Amino acid sequence: MLTPSKIVCVGRNYAAHARELGNVVPERPLLFLKPPSSIIRDGEAIVLPAQSRRVEHEAEIAIVIGRRMRHVTEGQARASIEGITCANDVTARDLQESDGQWTRAKGFDTFCPIGPRIMPLDASVDLAALEVIGRVNGTERQRATAAAMTFPIPVLLAYISGIMTLEPGDVVLTGTPDGVGVLAPGDTVEIEIPGVGILRNPVRSGGQS
Ligand code: ZN
Repeated sequence: MLTPSKIVCVGRNYAAHARELGNVVPERPLLFLKPPSSIIRDGEAIVLPAQSRRVEHEAEIAIVIGRRMRHVTEGQARASIEGITCANDVTARDLQESDGQWTRAKGFDTFCPIGPRIMPLDASVDLAALEVIGRVNGTERQRATAAAMTFPIPVLLAYISGIMTLEPGDVVLTGTPDGVGVLAPGDTVEIEIPGVGILRNPVRSGGQS
């Protein structure tokens, strides 16, 4: 069970995704937070909130922190990683655009499916070779390796730990490749990292506005 004190996310970390939304590639990592209350497990439903007309999937490689990190260097970062898992940075794209900041768009309950398996980071794992794939109803929508990230994983962890202490169990979502798209009730979303696992969540509509 993941119970992070925080979920730190990186926006626009793949150039092709920044461009598909009409954004420039950032000069430094663009950070935001998702609340731990947004987490759901493999198999649980993503609930589309009544406040949004356009909820999208974002397939991402997630880093689970194993040791407290504060002001680590890029070279030190890897030793503090517990492992790698799959995540879906579910986003209400219309609210992200209208609010001007991202707390509401990224923070709804059920907007952070994560898991199911944390792959331990042993010496054989090449972080840059990790690949993430997003599928909706079995059709592939997203695929990229970490080598395509603007800011590689060790750079992200050094940068973030220079701002806030990362605690064991905290999670870092490392950005999404191009190919994000709208989710509808009845869809099933899969996020796969080959060698790590497949995260599968159904989508349903919610009540309450
Ligand atoms: Zn994202």
